Amino acid sequence: MSGRLLDGRAVAKAVRAEVATDAARFLAEHGRPVGLDVVLVGEDPASQVYVRNKEKAAAQAGIRGRVHRLAADTSQAALLSLLAELNADDAVDGILVQLPVPQGLDELTTTDAIDPAKDVDGLHPLNAGRLVAGRPGLRPCTPRGCMRLLEETGVALSGKRAIVIGRSNLVGKPIGQMLLAASCTVTMAHSRTVDLADRVRESDVVIAAVGRPHLVRGDWVKPGAIVIDVGINRLDDGSLAGDVDFDGAMERAAWVSPVPRGVGPMTIAMLLRNAVDAAFARRAA
Ligand code: NAP
Repeated sequence: MSGRLLDGRAVAKAVRAEVATDAARFLAEHGRPVGLDVVLVGEDPASQVYVRNKEKAAAQAGIRGRVHRLAADTSQAALLSLLAELNADDAVDGILVQLPVPQGLDELTTTDAIDPAKDVDGLHPLNAGRLVAGRPGLRPCTPRGCMRLLEETGVALSGKRAIVIGRSNLVGKPIGQMLLAASCTVTMAHSRTVDLADRVRESDVVIAAVGRPHLVRGDWVKPGAIVIDVGINRLDDGSLAGDVDFDGAMERAAWVSPVPRGVGPMTIAMLLRNAVDAAFARRAA
């Protein structure tokens, strides 16, 4: 093994400590805590776990976390009405609707209804547009977490060749934009990409955000590359695996983020970061 472990759990801990300091400063300056409201519709077991983790992490950082649990058969109108209430509530700084929403609810109608100033998932088209235009705005949490992990390596990104495998609005596309903003030369790969292995072999930075266990093989990795594995895949034996063959990648890369304990903990830490950033930005507006 020559690679070094990019320990998301340790970096997330440091981010959460920074967030807690800033959340305390917000409370001291404004006389109320930062408010983060999470809306969970239905009883999807994975979503319930994610929401509980967010609630716990918010409390630990001194953020007032509140979860609105709605029945799976909630109408679109009722959901929009709750979002309008939260948009209008000055004590609410961040709003997140846990995705996916149950059948019968439209995801885009839902995320578009969140005030862009409170859009801590960074999914509103205004925030997506601001990212593309290189203007300040709330950025999606997982991509922000990946950039923070890259920062931890101390490697200068300018001029590096980067490949992002996956082009979802939540993960792949925003990471590609952030790497471009960091002056990388970015390749966006997806299910129709031809010769993916060759494209990975020429990349100094590899971000895998696909959802296919061990898609990226160790022998695809350029010696000295940085590999960030966003994928979360549940294997038949119940264990978790990333999109990258971790052991193989560690043989060649300079840095590899593991699954679990890589990008996952960073996502929650960056959600808290976004909530506190949104709170200060709303006060400054
Ligand atoms: P998604 O919306 O399903 O997108 C997957 C992307 O992978 C698509 O763009 C798809 O291409 C591409 N793809 C599929 N098969 C491929 C192949 N064989 N070769 C190259 N590209 C391929 O998924 P997502 O929401 O972006 O999530 C991606 C992964 O990250 C999932 O495992 C998810 O669980 C995980 N995730 C982790 C976190 C975290 O906090 N760690 C957060 C979010 C997501 P097309 O566009 O051509 O279909």
